[in-house]
Amino acid sequence: MSTIPHHHQAYLFKEALSPHGWQKDLRIEVDQLGRIISTQPNAEFRVGDQCINRAVCPGIPNLHSHSFQRAIAGRTATQLRGSQDHFWTWREAMYQAALKLSPEDLSAIAAQCFLEMLYNGYTSVAEFHYVHRDPQGKAYDRLSELSEAVIDAALMVGMPITHLPVLYRWAGFGQKTLLEEQRRFELNLDEYAQIITALDHQYQDDQRVKIALAPHSLRAVSADELKIITDPNFCPSLSEPNRVIHIHIAEQMAEVNMCLAQTGQRPVEWLMNHHDISSRWCLVHATHLSQEETAHLAQSKAVVGLCPSTEADLGDGLFPLPDFLAQGGRFGIGSDSNLRADPTEELRLLEWGQRLHHQKRNLAFSSLVNGQVHQAPQTKNLENPLDSLGQSLSLASVQGGSQALSRPTGFFEGAWADWFTLDEQDLGLCGAEGYLHSDQWIFARRNSRINDVFIAGQQVISDGKHPLERQIAAQFKQSIHRLFN
Ligand SMILES: [Zn+2]
Repeated sequence: MSTIPHHHQAYLFKEALSPHGWQKDLRIEVDQLGRIISTQPNAEFRVGDQCINRAVCPGIPNLHSHSFQRAIAGRTATQLRGSQDHFWTWREAMYQAALKLSPEDLSAIAAQCFLEMLYNGYTSVAEFHYVHRDPQGKAYDRLSELSEAVIDAALMVGMPITHLPVLYRWAGFGQKTLLEEQRRFELNLDEYAQIITALDHQYQDDQRVKIALAPHSLRAVSADELKIITDPNFCPSLSEPNRVIHIHIAEQMAEVNMCLAQTGQRPVEWLMNHHDISSRWCLVHATHLSQEETAHLAQSKAVVGLCPSTEADLGDGLFPLPDFLAQGGRFGIGSDSNLRADPTEELRLLEWGQRLHHQKRNLAFSSLVNGQVHQAPQTKNLENPLDSLGQSLSLASVQGGSQALSRPTGFFEGAWADWFTLDEQDLGLCGAEGYLHSDQWIFARRNSRINDVFIAGQQVISDGKHPLERQIAAQFKQSIHRLFN
């Protein structure tokens, strides 16, 4: 990893996925901060250009992560014999880990988790962070201690982070008091404002860190509290009052039914009736939608945060993706519980879930990408151009994730120079050119790592290796042993 401050730099990519589709000889210029100032396809080499003789993809923002849950990945596939409570082992494992974590554990687990994300093509993360207090439920001397532990892990790894301190006030609709095992999550509104303000000031000069808002869910935050924290005057000293807002919503039918019982409205319906849902919002999961909710949400320009591997693991259900996308809906993907940390798995499962349900193929085309932004790839022997699903899935998730993280990513002017190169040794990518790079990468990838990762124009992974890999893995192992032995 280069620590030397870099200067205005130009790169010439052999092939790259631009917002217009795959292009050859794409040349980009990057300013000192790491933002793209120009792009030019079919460019000629100029003296001083750094040539990247590989296929290059814009990094994929991971719009929903709880990094500490990496500690319980794979440890929840058991069930009490004879019990009907299929959620029990997951919840128990999550609380067991959440109650034991020290700040050092949190940092060690987050670092490993973020590194795995980088190795797989995520180049930024929105961390939905709800463990705030010490194991006894007391506030740390610095309220933001655990947030800092997570942010510092991201910075050590070189991962840009949109950190979302979570307001988690109640155990259920009707303001049920938090359970004993939820004692580390609790914050009152004053404490919440203090954390947001303190973090914002602490990291305001670091371009890799953004602080934004996360009411946990309609279950865990009251209607009044949601109004207060989403008001631009909530933290008046912030430089940008209109920060993005992420909220879990309509993930499981039990939640939809409780919301109906409490308010007479479905969760997304209620939210849209009471708030101006716009591009400022990221609705995480939004799995269970009526047709009206689907249409309104698609028109709202809010991003839906889809986390297919976690939604599958928890048995949540399937988001109505084809209807939503046909109406111009925006989505991004998240690794959520971090059972997996791989955008290709999320994108593949996103499509495959719909195929299994609808008994049809190629369902996740985004009308935003395919209708307007990208030109269909050219083919040699066909009269009609082809639309590439891999290309559409990649571009749509980069666009949606960028919006949800407030970190523009992709090969266009003003975006951050966050990208990765595909591994040409991967036989799953054998013979790929143009859009086939995206299709083969998502649907047929074999190798578990990508070659090189650049964040804001600086290389953080070279030939599939991060310089701190061993140290990060050792600390992760220590924490896992401490938590579970
Ligand atoms: Zn979540």
